[in-house]
Amino acid sequence: MSNTSILAEKASPYWWEAAPPGPVPAQPLAKSVDVAIVGAGYAGLAAGLTLARAGRSVAAFDAMHPGEGASSRNGGITSGSIRPSHAAIARTFDEATANAVEAEGKTAREFLYEFLSTENIDCDFQKTGLFKGALGYDQYDKMARDAEGLAKRLGIESYAVPYKEQQQYIGTDFYRGGVVRKDIGGLHPAKFHAGLLKVALAAGVSVHGHTPVTAIRRDGAGFRLQTPAGTIEARQVLVCSNGYTDGAAPYLRRRLVPVRSRIIVTEELPPEVMDRLMPQRMMMGEGRQLGHYYRPTPDGRRILLGGRESGHGTDATAPIRRLRRGLTELFPELEGVRLSHSWFGRVAMNRDMLPRIFEKDGILYASGFCGSGVVWAPWVGTRAAHRLLGSGDQARSAFFSRPPAAVPLYRGNPWFMPAFIKGYALQDRIAWWRSKR
Ligand SMILES: Cc1cc2nc3c(=O)[nH]c(=O)nc-3n(C[C@H](O)[C@H](O)[C@H](O)COP(=O)(O)OP(=O)(O)OC[C@H]3O[C@@H](n4cnc5c(N)ncnc54)[C@H](O)[C@@H]3O)c2cc1C
Repeated sequence: MSNTSILAEKASPYWWEAAPPGPVPAQPLAKSVDVAIVGAGYAGLAAGLTLARAGRSVAAFDAMHPGEGASSRNGGITSGSIRPSHAAIARTFDEATANAVEAEGKTAREFLYEFLSTENIDCDFQKTGLFKGALGYDQYDKMARDAEGLAKRLGIESYAVPYKEQQQYIGTDFYRGGVVRKDIGGLHPAKFHAGLLKVALAAGVSVHGHTPVTAIRRDGAGFRLQTPAGTIEARQVLVCSNGYTDGAAPYLRRRLVPVRSRIIVTEELPPEVMDRLMPQRMMMGEGRQLGHYYRPTPDGRRILLGGRESGHGTDATAPIRRLRRGLTELFPELEGVRLSHSWFGRVAMNRDMLPRIFEKDGILYASGFCGSGVVWAPWVGTRAAHRLLGSGDQARSAFFSRPPAAVPLYRGNPWFMPAFIKGYALQDRIAWWRSKR
């Protein structure tokens, strides 16, 4: 391994080497459609596909190339996680909602796998399993109990890995054991988006790249959407802009905080190093508030590691240095490894930290995937589409709910995020210090 720059050679996603987002064949803007969709990531396209196959005319708009948002920038881990615990959801909503949310995670993940297979989407998907490392023995005990509960309640193959067996899963001494979930895997996110786009176009969705919706106005029983390419009328509107929500959806923008997530990718590592560090080529996570997610690239030759960015300081290299430190904390032998790529994208959090489908003034919104949209966005987009179609059972979801609460004093500039992130980092440091006592 050479020891050149500590930064990365490229500031674009590794995934774009094989599947760069690009222009879609230009289509004239229809005068009117049944449904207009704002955002052509996983959520918008999955919704568009469902609607088009049900016979609706659909126009999907994206301010960038379709997929250029989070849907071609993510880690590709099919985690389908929910941040709040079962108990916390029961407190905020009720016990039935907490149970339904947990069960829907399983259904949504299975839906994705079935979708990839029936639509023949080649995106390097492998159900590798995921190892989640524990910071200390207390955390390990709790994670082991949770894994047992998951196996009992939902029949998900999940089990604890004690510290002494940890090296079978990961070549680090950093954790005090962990848990494995066999139902999670990894895919190539940009290839997934490209496959979804192809299927949606073939179904008749009219996709308009580099066409931002600048305003949505009520017009009689329907809506008028303003774009630089002209105005379009729509009977129904679905907003799927998630972490890239702008002034066209002010109601959503006050309820959804965009957070930067950044990824680094190493140069190709020798096979014996990969065999030592990631012997089973599983997806990886950890029990910290600001934990890293990491994985081998689909060819098994590089390590990709991601985490939250803590702010927008003046030193643009600081976030890459921080991730590099995270990488070598886990794998000291990677000190000095070259990085081929580093980039960031935006995830979206709401105050409940739960994905959400809600309606306000006749517009339907589907967003708030809190960094786990590979599973949630296609699922929630599809459910939202069924809602617009008025389908009964297929429109059911635990995520249909009241709008998330607005974030106080927030109009689109997340000025408070650095303080939040510092708070989480402090909690992690305390947990770490306790685990080492
Ligand atoms: C670095 C990173 C790593 C991640 N890792 C994982 C992971 O490993 N596993 C996982 O499950 N999830 C992960 N995620 C989250 C996941 O990528 C997202 O939750 C998911 O892609 C969201 O899909 P979406 O369709 O809702 O939004 P997006 O893909 O972000 O699409 C929203 C689109 O809306 C468009 N838009 C916004 N406003 C307008 C407007 N006014 N007019 C027209 N278009 C507009 C934007 O241009 C954008 O393309 C990660 C995200 C990031 C950024």
